[in-house]
Amino acid sequence: MSKSIKTRMTIFIATIVFVLLTIFGGFLYWGLKAIIYRHFDQRLLVFADAIEDSYDPANNDFKFLEEKTENYFAARKGWVRIIDWNETILFQSDPFVKNPAPFPFEKAKELTTESYFYRQFKRENGKVFRSIILPVVNRISAEKIGWVEAGESVKEIENTLAFFRKLLLLSLPIALLFVAIVSYWMVNRLIQPVSAMAEQTEKISYTNLDERLPIINPNDELGRLGTRFNMLLDRLENAFQTQRQFLNNVSHELKTPITILRNHWEKATADNSLPDSIRRRLNTDVEELVRLSKMVSDLSLLSHSLEMHPALKREQVSLTEMLHHLVEDIRLLANQKNQSIEFLGNEPVQVNGEPRFLKRLFLNLLDNAVKYTPDNGSIRVSCSMENGHAVVCFSDNGIGINSQDLPHIFDRFYRASNVHSNNAKGTGLGLSIAKWIAEAHHGSLEITSQPKQGSTFKVKLPLVNNV
Ligand code: ADP
Repeated sequence: MSKSIKTRMTIFIATIVFVLLTIFGGFLYWGLKAIIYRHFDQRLLVFADAIEDSYDPANNDFKFLEEKTENYFAARKGWVRIIDWNETILFQSDPFVKNPAPFPFEKAKELTTESYFYRQFKRENGKVFRSIILPVVNRISAEKIGWVEAGESVKEIENTLAFFRKLLLLSLPIALLFVAIVSYWMVNRLIQPVSAMAEQTEKISYTNLDERLPIINPNDELGRLGTRFNMLLDRLENAFQTQRQFLNNVSHELKTPITILRNHWEKATADNSLPDSIRRRLNTDVEELVRLSKMVSDLSLLSHSLEMHPALKREQVSLTEMLHHLVEDIRLLANQKNQSIEFLGNEPVQVNGEPRFLKRLFLNLLDNAVKYTPDNGSIRVSCSMENGHAVVCFSDNGIGINSQDLPHIFDRFYRASNVHSNNAKGTGLGLSIAKWIAEAHHGSLEITSQPKQGSTFKVKLPLVNNV
């Protein structure tokens, strides 16, 4: 499923923000943890140093030990112990942490007089403690007499960090949601001109090529795109005008000589002194000239269909009456092929339109029905009213149209593949003209057809009161 640009951009921005926030949050958490532990370790060091300083080598005693530890414990709930080089505990604060991890004598004995280290251990109840181990030095003899270990629970630190973690985890989706909403809104605003252009482009067809896209800001990228598109429409409009003009001129120029030729030949065929073979040839030529003159008049009509706003003269037309006459006219042709043709339509059906064009629409369909229905076939024309529309159907049991040809049948100059075997002459313009006339009258022309079974053309036109 293809997603819209808005959705894709929003997902893209949100993903980038998510990655950045995660990295940034990770750094923040890591930095905060380092700072808190550094403070914690510093405090342990200051305290352990103070105890070590209070060692009095003269009396082999720790001065003010009780006082210092009391102050410390009152504030921090920490603990301290002093162990001598023989691994005996000299002093242990009260309350001392229960069951501490075994003192790391080996590592402690490697310490120089100026160095120290920290260790962290977990008691069975899961509580984590961190302590500093620092050597106690006899300043007179400079020998190490033991170690002081001072520690505290890291519960408070871990609580603070856990709170920070929760804060980060909670703020991340909120920030993401906010970013997604804001970016969706922003992208939407940015591409709004594109949507407006797409909407307008959809509305533009050859009937309203004079319409142009709205340009909000001609200097930005979208504005330039719109301007270029409008220039393209200018060129298209010009090309259409030229094509129409050309069609008009060609049909106009051809009309007169073809009519003259036709008249001459028709007169010539009437001359009984001409040999039969020449007369037959002239008759075929006349047939061709008739076809040519129809094509020329179709082309002239077609040039109207390329007009942007064809000015159709509208007047009230009684379809039933018009169709009745047309069916009677075409009956002569149908009789030649021994076809039956019936008209069903008694109620008066009135539409607004140009009678000349409507006649052409119906004649094209009637003509086709006769042309593409074999001898002895039957044709049926009906006229009725349906949901505010006049519905005229032309059904025949002729050669029909196969499914590959059906989608193109209204294209100009298109003829289905089966017409050649039927030997029917034509130009391929009749249906495109018929469709254009129906649409120019705000109606429609549809077809259903089965090869070798027949076709039905359905014309729908708005009734007088619905125009
Ligand atoms: P043409 O001058 O060839 O009749 P049209 O535009 O009137 O041109 O029709 C286009 C094509 O549609 C025809 O060539 C034919 O193949 C097909 N067609 C039109 N009407 C019928 C019909 N009643 N039955 C079968 N095929 C039809």
